[in-house]
Amino acid sequence: MSDTGVAGNVLDVEKIRKDFPILSQSVRGKPLIYLDNAATTHKPISVIERVRNFDAEKYGTVRRGTYKLSEHATQLYEEVRQKVADFMGAEKKGEIVFTSGTTQAINLVAHSFGKRFVNEGDEIVISNIEHHANIVPWQVLCEERGAKLKVIPVDDDGELVMEEYEKLLSPKTRMVAVNHVSNALGTINPIKEITQKAHAVGARVLIDGAQSTPHIKLDVRDIDCDFYTFSGHKMYGPSGIGGVYGKMELWEEMPPYVTGGDMIMQVTLEKTTYAKPPARFEAGTPPITQVMGLGAAIDYLNEIGMDKIADYENSLLEYGTRLFKEIEGVRIIGNARRKASIISFFSDSAHPHDMVHFLDQDGIACRGGHHCAQPTMIRYGVPATTRASMAFYNKPEELDALAESVQKCIRIFS
Ligand code: PMP
Repeated sequence: MSDTGVAGNVLDVEKIRKDFPILSQSVRGKPLIYLDNAATTHKPISVIERVRNFDAEKYGTVRRGTYKLSEHATQLYEEVRQKVADFMGAEKKGEIVFTSGTTQAINLVAHSFGKRFVNEGDEIVISNIEHHANIVPWQVLCEERGAKLKVIPVDDDGELVMEEYEKLLSPKTRMVAVNHVSNALGTINPIKEITQKAHAVGARVLIDGAQSTPHIKLDVRDIDCDFYTFSGHKMYGPSGIGGVYGKMELWEEMPPYVTGGDMIMQVTLEKTTYAKPPARFEAGTPPITQVMGLGAAIDYLNEIGMDKIADYENSLLEYGTRLFKEIEGVRIIGNARRKASIISFFSDSAHPHDMVHFLDQDGIACRGGHHCAQPTMIRYGVPATTRASMAFYNKPEELDALAESVQKCIRIFS
């Protein structure tokens, strides 16, 4: 432990930072302090190199060519699917469907599962602290199918009210869709308990894992959820790639969402039969290069170890929370007992948009806004928050600099 209490013995952060070329730059004459990791993360050199090497030497189309380049690219592509399956704890690699990210993954499940399993009078349950990506697709589905959307309330600290959740469940519930970690508050939701309770009434469960996959060691079989989504660009990989784990028995029953090439068994001008999952849900040429980058990102995370990442980031979060609790005029929005890597805060003195502009002058990249979670902002009576979201390459000194800059901002704006 350093004198900040941050577990420097868990990870060699200075060594890790050397793996991320972008972090060594200056912004407005100050060293870049990157604290917008919940929006997107930076890439280690191993990801950048894997992508470069693939494009320079191995690039080819997948799942169709019968020549060497294409066959090899297909093999590498399927190896990444296996890597993702192992990373998430899935039983079969075919349970992983690649998408462009979490948004597309939730849309895929909402449309496809909804078409097959949701009918008039059925109910879908989400929570009050979801990203818009886990709200809008379900609203659209409910409108289309004549189903009803129910919302789990959240308490003043940012924790779901589990007694109220139980009251929402009934044999009419078809799907419970909640995040593992809230991007606006950092709350870690009790997803195993949520899943058990949903299954008890025969409902299925989708977990939005966009914010958890970079921070928490996963085991989808232990959670027993039916779907679990992720985004590569929040896991130190490229943008444009992500995916969703789903139980094979469900994928097999679900109709395609996007249709066209590659997702078919046979096409005649009269009728089309569909390929088995996962191909049924991956129409068209996939983002081949990005898949390779995702594979490298998972290798990198595995090399460091998700347990170590969680330990280090937890101590960083504790340190930052202590700092922010001492700043006069600042209110932390989201004080759940279990949180991951996010400090969202509000000050009456400076609007978050002014605050982040001010921080930027000090080379600090933070997000100010509603974080695509407007219902969360409404619940806490704020128009927006400033959000510092951490990764394992952040240092306690960077949080000191953030706290100092925030205090300076409040003094000037007051
Ligand atoms: N859900 C959550 C909790 C998120 O934080 C995000 C990204 N901010 C998304 C969904 C959407 O992910 P993507 O933009 O990668 O599709």
